[in-house]
Amino acid sequence: MSGDATKLTTLGRKQYTGGFPCVNPPTYRASTILYPSLDEFEKGECGTYDYVTYGRYGSPTHQAFAEILCELEGAEGAILTSSGLAAITVALMSFLKAGDHILLSDSVYGPTRDFCTHMLAGYGVEVEFFPADADGEVVRPLMRKTTKVVFLEAPGSLTFEMQDIGSIAEVAHAFGAVVMADNTWATPLYFKPFEHGVDISIHAATKYIGGHSDLLMGTVTARGEHLKTLKAGDKLLGVRASGDDVSLALRGIRTMALRVEHHYKAALEIATWLQQQPQVARVLYPALPEDEGHERWKKYMSGACGLFGVELAAGYGRAQLAAMLDGLEYFKMGFSWGGYESLIIRVHPHKLRSHAAWKKDTVILRINVGLEDVADLKEDLRAGMGRLDGAV
Ligand SMILES: *Cc1c(COP(=O)(O)O)cnc(C)c1O
Repeated sequence: MSGDATKLTTLGRKQYTGGFPCVNPPTYRASTILYPSLDEFEKGECGTYDYVTYGRYGSPTHQAFAEILCELEGAEGAILTSSGLAAITVALMSFLKAGDHILLSDSVYGPTRDFCTHMLAGYGVEVEFFPADADGEVVRPLMRKTTKVVFLEAPGSLTFEMQDIGSIAEVAHAFGAVVMADNTWATPLYFKPFEHGVDISIHAATKYIGGHSDLLMGTVTARGEHLKTLKAGDKLLGVRASGDDVSLALRGIRTMALRVEHHYKAALEIATWLQQQPQVARVLYPALPEDEGHERWKKYMSGACGLFGVELAAGYGRAQLAAMLDGLEYFKMGFSWGGYESLIIRVHPHKLRSHAAWKKDTVILRINVGLEDVADLKEDLRAGMGRLDGAV
């Protein structure tokens, strides 16, 4: 069995190039796929490509990408969707129906929360949240006969709490529920979901897998019966990633190990430095020994990405914040993360929580450390901190 970096560079190649000996598989743009005979047409089979009879079911480009992802995660199959959010909605819709109950970690990605509380609740699914730093014993009393899905995201969006993934999965399974996890932050490199009781693994490939802020794509991976249920739901919903985006993701994933390792090192250095700044109350990043989720992060993950939160000391208002952010040279304001460029935004977790009491006035910044020189990034932030104190 080869290492992850070897898998990233060698898988998804030879058998997808159609006999032409170039390094990479071609980008298939396909709606119609032709059948060679009435026999094949009536069997619903098309050449040697399993499950591909129409562009909505993918192409060899999709299969090449799926091969790499499945080998990295230890999954038996993957579906590739048109966004990370579509990966989440397809997974949820495939496993839930009216009368079911779903439990989600309180700091799941905002649109995941909104999909559940608006759309799933409207379809008769009971939606409930548990504290984002929960373990199995916190979740156990919330389990019902009708609980079909327990949804995790560790660390969570905006506030980066770690759940105790293994003990929650154990409790969920004892009640017959399916465990889903949004693993975008840890990437398929640093967290191996199926070794820790996760049944359905989700990634926004838009982030580190793509890595260049030029595509939208989601992935869902599973094994055995779960994969069958997922594929059945996926077939009904029809939100396939385009061949062009899969091709970009395939290009991105080849270098993911190198990129993420650099993001991790650079982010750890910058986060450690930020902890020492007087303008900072605390840094929310489980890779830091002082973080409340650090022990769990060490238990489940073998690395971290370049995304973390910074809580500013009390007392900074909007004018100071604008002076800091508007003047930054390398940290630009924009949604998404996981690309090569550094980003910073103010976030508002108090609007998106049922349990933790984040205050409206607390300033929390979300920082995505890109691939620029760390010295330049630190200098940019140092000057920004100065503007926080300078502005009136
Ligand atoms: C960005 C993100 C998503 C959604 O991905 P899109 O491709 O933007 O739809 C899902 N989960 C997490 C944790 C994210 O950060």
